[in-house]
Formats: sequence, structure tokens, C-alpha cells
Amino acid sequence: MPSSALRAFTCSLCHAVYRELPFAAVCERCSKPLSALYEYESVRVALRERPPAERPRNLWRFAEMLPVAPGDRIGVATGFSPLVRAERLGRRLGLDDLWIKNDTVLAPSLSYKDRVVSVALQRALESGQSRVGCVSTGNVGNSVAAIAARVGIDATIFYPRQVDPAKVVSTAAYGRRIIRLDGTYDEVNAVCRRLALETGIPFVNINLRPYYAEGAKTLAYEIAEQLDWRPPDHCVVPVAGTTLIRKVVKGFWELDQVRLTDGNPTRVHAAQAEGCSPVARAVLDGADEIEPCVPDTLADSIAIGAPSEGGIAAHEIRSVGGTAAAVPDAEIVRAMALLAETEGILAEPAGGTSVAAAAALRANGTISRSDRVVVAVTGNALKTLDALAALPGAQVADALPLAEADGVFERWLGEGVAASP
Ligand SMILES: *Cc1c(COP(=O)(O)O)cnc(C)c1O
Ligand SMILES: [Zn+2]
Repeated sequence: MPSSALRAFTCSLCHAVYRELPFAAVCERCSKPLSALYEYESVRVALRERPPAERPRNLWRFAEMLPVAPGDRIGVATGFSPLVRAERLGRRLGLDDLWIKNDTVLAPSLSYKDRVVSVALQRALESGQSRVGCVSTGNVGNSVAAIAARVGIDATIFYPRQVDPAKVVSTAAYGRRIIRLDGTYDEVNAVCRRLALETGIPFVNINLRPYYAEGAKTLAYEIAEQLDWRPPDHCVVPVAGTTLIRKVVKGFWELDQVRLTDGNPTRVHAAQAEGCSPVARAVLDGADEIEPCVPDTLADSIAIGAPSEGGIAAHEIRSVGGTAAAVPDAEIVRAMALLAETEGILAEPAGGTSVAAAAALRANGTISRSDRVVVAVTGNALKTLDALAALPGAQVADALPLAEADGVFERWLGEGVAASP
């Protein structure tokens, strides 16, 4: 296993550099998040010695650019979700070169969170921890419970009031502790931050966050590689706490640093639900601070009203030519149905949000018909049954008597073949 080129952590805002991660895992001067810094020359050397073709096809493929120690890794089945050409959906949206990065089938828990949680729990194991906590809008909890079960450590998952019931139920199956508090995600996060710092218990997305966040870069690495190292013109990413979108920007940048890509600049765009769009609004307003909100959307997994890195994210998105779209819930549901009907991909509302945002950016001219576009579809709808029930035709009809089958067949034959959408 290659060793990491990690050299330090740096503040996203004031650029202070830390050789060791501070106890609170944020900048001691300005309390902003810290980001891993690597020495890219040594990565270039490692890539010459061991080119991509000789490496395992999983999350740890470019472990030189992840903050992990050499040695055994957890979750070798995680990573390399499909990148699929979406011709039928593209025709509906007026896009000739549309692709879906399909993390609805990522192992082990069917959302992009398996990328970040794998790196956080790897770090927890390396530092001898036998228990972890997390605070979750839904999918982090699933992922922590699944991976903690796999590696045999204790875990406690904190959920807010508003969370998809199917995510709580499926998390429970893994036999880890679940605590649901009567507050918004931001309120529960504040409680957990205090507990994490008072007790020193590692929370994957609080005091392990600089490790956790780096796992999200692998989504960008994979997209570039799956397109033969030609990054797309646009990448549309659903945004909650901004980890994924910030690390997609960083991931594409790093591939240029280590000369795996040809420098085609990717414009990375933020997709949010209108009912929780602080980052999208900051991007569109040209602001470097967000205005927090209380979420009101069916897209629970991306309902974070006060993301602490929101302002920095808005700045970074604009710096790569990105913009944003905030889409209403009705369009999110329509986009979920369209994605399922045209591509056979069942995505939760976060995925509907990025598809609807891509449609909006096409409609307003940000994206042109011939541009190459990758839409990140980040979670599986089997965990959001309420949202699925909102789709047209979702009601389960009463069972017919068997004797009526002949009549049903006759009517079906009489209808002819339905046009494909
Ligand atoms: C968490 C999540 C996101 C984005 O989250 P960030 O906090 O911005 O990284 C997107 N889609 C799904 C399905 C998620 O669970
Ligand atoms: Zn700082």
C-alpha cells in the first residue's frame, strides 16, 4: 500500500498551517475547517513507479492523496460506482453529452457517504479508537453503522427530528445505537460538537472531519478516469454541508497537479432545494458569507441550513467558473421520476435535485447543448420511501381476482406499444 503524501492541514480561510491536527479539528485562529495539504511531487513520482493500471479499482486507488497510513484498509469494495452515459435523459434535457455518476449503488450503504465515512473510520482505527459517533441527515448514519459493523467497533448515530424513516430503520439493522433529538440538523450538530469536544470521542464529521472530507475527492478522481482523464466541462453536485462540492473542486485540481489530466477546466455547479439553499444563494449573489435558514424541503439528506463552510464553498465554486441552481420540491420529484423512467436509476431527492439543477442550468444557458456534463446522483431512493410515494403512479393498487387476468391482457394488447419517454 502506498504511503500518503500528506504534509499538514491548512485553514480554508486564513491559510494557517498545522503539522498536527488541533484537538477541535478547526483553525485555532478563526474556527474554520481545515483541509489536508499534500506534497504533489512525491505523488507524481509514485504514479510513475506504479501507474493507475496497476492499482486496485477502489476508494484507495490514489491513497497517496488521502490522509491515511500505509497498511490494511477498510472497505475495499467501496468506490468505482458506474459513470453512465445518459442519452435518453439527455434528449429530454437538451444535452447531447450527459453522464450520471451513479453513487446510488455505492457499497456498502448506497450513498456517496460511504466514501467519506470509510476514510474517517480508517483514521479512527489507525488511531486505536474502538468507538465513534456521528451526526447525520440520514445517509452518514447508514454508512457509519454499516462500516462500524463490518470492522467491529461501537458507534452512536445522532439524527435530527426530520429524517427519512427508512434511513433510521435500515441504520437500526446494523445493531449500533441511534439517538434522535428533537431539533434541526444544525441544532443537533451543535450539541454533538460540544459533546465531542468535552469527551474526546471521535465523531466522524466533527473532530474527524478533515479526514472524513478528503474521501469525497474520490468521486472527482473516478469521474475523470472514467472519461479517460478528460474531465467534463460541467459537474453538477448536490450540496448540504458543502463537503462533496468543495472536494470535487479540489479533486479535479489535484489531478492536474499530478498530471493525470490535461487541464480541461471543469465548472462545478451547486444544486440545492429551494427550501434550503443558503449556498446556492451565496454563489448567485456573489457573497462570501451565507445567510442561514431553517430548512423546508422534502430533500432531507441535503437540508443543512447553516453549513459552516458555506461561504468558503461559494467562493471556491465561483473561482472555478461554477454557479448554482435552487430548485423547488415539485421539480425535484419530477426529476426523480424522469431519471427513473429514462435511465432506470432510482435516486433519492438529492439526486433529483442535481438532475433538476442541470435542467435549470441548461435552460438558462449556463450549459450548452454540446457541453460534456456529469451529474452526481448521490443516494438511493429505497431509503426515501416517502419521496417515492410522491411519484406519479406510486400507489399500490388492490390485487385483482386471477380470473380478470385475461381481460387485462386483452386491454394491454389493444393499447399497442407505449412510446418510450
Ligand atoms: C450528504 C449528502 C449530500 C451532500 O452532502 P455534503 O454535506 O454537501 O457533502 C448529497 N447527497 C446525498 C444523498 C447526501 O446524503
Ligand atoms: Zn484560520
